[in-house]
Amino acid sequence: MSKLPNVGTTVFTVMSRRARELGALNLGQGFPDYDIDPRITELVAVAMSAGYNQYAPMEGTMPLRERIAAKLLRSYGRKVDPESEITVTLGATEAIYSTIQAVAGSGDEVIAFDPAYDSYEPAVRLAGARCIRLPLTPPSFSYDWDRVRRSLSERTRLVLINSPHNPACTTISDDDLDRLADAIRGRNIAVLSDEVYEHVVYDGRRHASVLRHPQLAERSVAVFSFGKTLHATGLRVGYAVAPPPLTAELRKVHQFNTFSIAHPLQHAIAAYLAEKPDIGDGLAAFFQAKRDRLRATLAGSGFALPPARGTYFQLLDFGELAPPGDLAFAERLLTEAGVATIPLTPFYENPPPLTVVRLCIAKRDETLDRAAERLGAFAGRLARRG
Ligand code: GLN
Repeated sequence: MSKLPNVGTTVFTVMSRRARELGALNLGQGFPDYDIDPRITELVAVAMSAGYNQYAPMEGTMPLRERIAAKLLRSYGRKVDPESEITVTLGATEAIYSTIQAVAGSGDEVIAFDPAYDSYEPAVRLAGARCIRLPLTPPSFSYDWDRVRRSLSERTRLVLINSPHNPACTTISDDDLDRLADAIRGRNIAVLSDEVYEHVVYDGRRHASVLRHPQLAERSVAVFSFGKTLHATGLRVGYAVAPPPLTAELRKVHQFNTFSIAHPLQHAIAAYLAEKPDIGDGLAAFFQAKRDRLRATLAGSGFALPPARGTYFQLLDFGELAPPGDLAFAERLLTEAGVATIPLTPFYENPPPLTVVRLCIAKRDETLDRAAERLGAFAGRLARRG
């Protein structure tokens, strides 16, 4: 008996494990390989010494929620009430899981877009609901809003969007948000907006958050992550922002799921945000430099590099070098080139023939350079073999 018969260990975990076993460079699972700001380490020690070592409040500590409210006002010009609209969660994954459990139940439908982050559908299934997966097809990965409209039914409870998009590296536009708002207007449908890469939007563009869209903000749960913003994925501290009635439902699940989040970490993050309220501001430039470095070193290698408009990933297109089949190609990159990547097939219900794999660019410049060298040499070997 299994409630998730088709689910194995995630592609991220498997790729990281195999990269360790084979001594490959790990550009697969999305996490930085450089040090975090030592000030965060100090502030965690300060919080523990000060005695913040027992349960935190279920909703999150008030100092942290107040800092989050200030950050949201700064980023999106939206006034959010920390008391009734912000919940601190165990990373974004818990925020997504708890939201889905709170909103969708037996017989309900949830719309998600493929390639879909791997935690979405299992969370929907565990809620007893059905996940309707609509394709975003490479190379543009663009939304077909007419199809979305046709896919909505009386049973639809939730539409799940993600921007900047992991793994497509695309960003949603203001026009897309308007189309989504039109599609769900007058219906009892909520939106779950996974915005964990909110600060990693490139080339001077502005992140189109649902929190900036008055109609969507009224019925959305927007999900964010300190792991991404502080370059520290091990913190596992995220938060969900939603209007009071949705927040109340979300908290009913959160309190029985993770109950409350590591108290000293919440204190440390609040203190860090007090010192650096503009923490998100430099992220786009920081990762854009890495993106551009990797793109420049791979230029002329034989791999094509689809545009990356956001996230800390870059797709690598091997279509000129090998036949479609990203699972097989990722395996070759791992075993023959010594570079772990993430294929996109696991993110699709019905995968198209794919010629792209995902690279994580949240790495030291030396790591990126070494990976590019290995990838370039492998491309050279493939091209010579014709
Ligand atoms: N968010 C990470 C990624 O996309 C994976 C996190 C995980 O392994 N669950 O690579």
